[in-house]
Amino acid sequence: MDRPIVIVGGGVAGLTVARLLAGNGIKSIVVERENNLGGHVGQWACMATDTCLRCHCCSVEEMVNYALTSDMIEVRTGWELASFSPSAGIAKEALLKQTGTAREEIEQAEALVITTGFQPYNPAEKILLGHGRLDQVFTLAEVDSLLRTDKLSLFTGDRDGLKVAFFQCVGSRDASSGGNYCSQYCCQAALRMALKLIHEDPRIAVTLFYIDLQLAGKYGGALLKAAQDKGVRLLQGVPGEIRNSNDSLEVIIESQGQNLHETFDRAILSIGQRPNALESFVEQLGLSADDFGFIQSKDTLDSSRTSVADVYVAGTCCGPKNIENTVSHAGQTAEAIMADLRRKGI
Ligand SMILES: Cc1cc2nc3c(=O)[nH]c(=O)nc-3n(C[C@H](O)[C@H](O)[C@H](O)COP(=O)(O)OP(=O)(O)OC[C@H]3O[C@@H](n4cnc5c(N)ncnc54)[C@H](O)[C@@H]3O)c2cc1C
Ligand code: SF4
Ligand code: SF4
Repeated sequence: MDRPIVIVGGGVAGLTVARLLAGNGIKSIVVERENNLGGHVGQWACMATDTCLRCHCCSVEEMVNYALTSDMIEVRTGWELASFSPSAGIAKEALLKQTGTAREEIEQAEALVITTGFQPYNPAEKILLGHGRLDQVFTLAEVDSLLRTDKLSLFTGDRDGLKVAFFQCVGSRDASSGGNYCSQYCCQAALRMALKLIHEDPRIAVTLFYIDLQLAGKYGGALLKAAQDKGVRLLQGVPGEIRNSNDSLEVIIESQGQNLHETFDRAILSIGQRPNALESFVEQLGLSADDFGFIQSKDTLDSSRTSVADVYVAGTCCGPKNIENTVSHAGQTAEAIMADLRRKGI
């Protein structure tokens, strides 16, 4: 096959598709808007305590190394897709544009895979939760980045033995903010972070408020037990309001029909995954968004193909996923591409 597959997005999904295609002798071009590969996972910390907590984040390093050293994968960081012409029967063309410049290049392509990912929910619209207004209120993404860059002191300040509250489902499972679905990753990510914080300072006391805990997967039960063994307090409830009170946070929690009042030193909001705005090339292709704004794939039983021939999707651009499910979906997409190429005798 002479013409490569163009993959837009160099996160876990894009890198997984590229790697599986490369393993089957199929060339691809990974077009990544940022200057680095890895997508969001490149910002998340290793959550290992005395033991690996299986967050899967380190798998992205291996994926990046593979992409950068494979003869079958051309990596274009700092580039994006301007348009794709999927005309049947003639060569398909991808118009690539260097990010922030007017430079453009045309690549002949066999197919297009969209793996443009998600964006973390911005809790600014939840004014009563105080994020951006109260210095002691963080998102899971912010604490993840601080852990990754060895700047946890910006979270703890000069205090030992903090009382920390996690609030789950912020911007997920929430019809009022347009995110009435489960973001899949955050219950386990919050439990891992709770264990990591306690590992860093065993005097930290963690309470985790949840709607119900989503612990699907082989290791969810073990993670819950580890958190309970370390004294993580688990309470059903959602935050109504977070206020400043003498350098602490006074929190009103709606729990089982009652309003609880509790005081904490720090709050961590477990923000959900939200769709990126539809890119102009997606709209030009005639693809639409689903009820929540994610790119619509063909149907539930064929979630890798789209309504446009030779245009595929993978990963969180078409719905929220953790890393394991992103890899699994990207694997299905690579299989679908190879099946279609075989069918066409390519
Ligand atoms: C705070 C937080 C913590 C998390 N922790 C975990 C965890 O511990 N374990 C876990 O399993 N999951 C975790 N997740 C979920 C995990 O981040 C996702 O499963 C994963 O990032 C999905 O990968 P992706 O490739 O679909 O998307 P992304 O990671 O969003 O990658 C998409 C890539 O596409 C690029 N892109 C977008 N548009 C364009 C364009 N037009 N042209 C070129 N490039 C483009 C982006 O720059 C990005 O590099 C976490 C999520 C959050 C928010
Ligand atoms: S899976 Fe996660 S916790 Fe385990 S070593 Fe890798 S990054 Fe660390
Ligand atoms: S994984 Fe947990 S925190 Fe995340 S949306 Fe689902 S139930 Fe809420």
